[in-house]
Amino acid sequence: APNSGGDRGGAPRSRPAPMVRDGTMTASSRPVRVRIAPSPTGDPHVGTAYIALFNYVFAKQQGGKFILRIEDTDQSRARADSEQMIFDALRWVGLSWDEGPDVGGPFGPYRQSERKAIYAEHARLLIERGKAYRCFCTGERLAEVRAAKIAAKDSFLGYDRHCRAGERAESDARAAAGEAHVVRLIVPDGQVVVRDRLRGEVTFDLAQIDDQVLLKSDGMPTYHLANVVDDHLMEITHVIRAEEWISSTPKHVLLYQAFGWDEPAWHHMPLLRNNDKSKISKRKNPVSINYYRDAGILPHALLNFLGLMGWSFGDDREKFTLAEMVEAFTWDRISLGGPVFALDKLTWLNEKYIHELSNEELADALIAWRLRKDYLAQLVPLVRQRIKRLDDFVPATTYFFAGDLDYADVAAELAIPEVAPADVAKGLLGYVDRIEAREGWDHAGLEAEARAWCEALGWKAKHAFMLLRLVVTGRKASPPLFETMAVLGKELTRRRLRQAAELIGKRA
Ligand code: GLU
Repeated sequence: APNSGGDRGGAPRSRPAPMVRDGTMTASSRPVRVRIAPSPTGDPHVGTAYIALFNYVFAKQQGGKFILRIEDTDQSRARADSEQMIFDALRWVGLSWDEGPDVGGPFGPYRQSERKAIYAEHARLLIERGKAYRCFCTGERLAEVRAAKIAAKDSFLGYDRHCRAGERAESDARAAAGEAHVVRLIVPDGQVVVRDRLRGEVTFDLAQIDDQVLLKSDGMPTYHLANVVDDHLMEITHVIRAEEWISSTPKHVLLYQAFGWDEPAWHHMPLLRNNDKSKISKRKNPVSINYYRDAGILPHALLNFLGLMGWSFGDDREKFTLAEMVEAFTWDRISLGGPVFALDKLTWLNEKYIHELSNEELADALIAWRLRKDYLAQLVPLVRQRIKRLDDFVPATTYFFAGDLDYADVAAELAIPEVAPADVAKGLLGYVDRIEAREGWDHAGLEAEARAWCEALGWKAKHAFMLLRLVVTGRKASPPLFETMAVLGKELTRRRLRQAAELIGKRA
């Protein structure tokens, strides 16, 4: 059994995690440790919950540990609110982790930005062992080399390995003198084989792989170095991640070889797909876990649905609990043919779960959803001047408690004078892009973005704001528009904008 590793299983360890660890135990002899490693770059993605689910299920079944590591070394893409949203969304869906930035654990820190010294030390080690080298090439030189390669119709546009040939002593001296450089991996000639447990052996030709940058000039590691070093130091036995990372895996295998470490067992799960089979994308399908929460999907229904993505329970059974999945899980019932994230299927499952709830449980679910006091308290200031009696409140606020709106009554007015419907649709999506690019969700920001947006399009604010109002509320009159959007929330607001854009686009 994979968990027969003996003496070290599960015992809490008090020693500080070492900077460098020798790779002596093989993956199969060690207690199972798996991880997800999301980058905090935006809204918590359903793909993260999907991969987390399979890691969690495998860990629980094997009596192993499930770790959450935050990969935040790309500071240009990191978003301050994103990490907390990942924690909240995964907990909402019902998955918890044994080790992570917020719960601690013996292999911390679990946030890569706090592990810089570890990566620098490992890059140094590779240089010392002749597996990596410092590259002092300037951005200009790299651009020239690339341009020359393009002109010569070279099929390999990567780095020309100029600094690979340099003397170590000279490289050391230049680094000591503070000269800017990156550290690159020496990619040998030949081939590398990725032994994927779900896909078999996948062979990659190294002639097409660039001498990877491992450490950037600002001292930050790249994804490849940080990911491999952490998986090793955190004693990860099985890497279970999405298919989109498989092109990185040969680089990771080379790194394991360069360090002389054992590789984890690789499992690349099939990507979630839109209805049209393209890779799941927010343009075609809501991808934020928070959308599903706000749209009234029960967390265990979402989890069950994610369990159906690429895996089957057997006997055509589609409804199962997390505990049942943990018990029944086997890798051989993973199928690699692109699971479709079909909303109607999710709604179908959700309905089954709703009907199963007792009246009391369903009432509680509704309260937890949007009938909470703190949510009502946000609505009250918006509508108090618009109601004469308490019984006006519900009719005045229906669109705060609805997911998709029916625009049948206002369809003709979803327009901008003298603008073609296709351009109106495109314009609305442009506003979605703007508000998504912002950090936070507040009425002042939404308004500033809207003003800049309609000015850029040359639309009159009067027309553009009426269009937004109709889309967001389904009505011509509403409380102040941007406050309404702020309270309605990011998920339902942008869903309505996208739905309306689609509707208007169809008219074109
Ligand atoms: N940071 C990567 C991500 O955002 C991790 C990929 C992996 O699991 O290796 O998903």
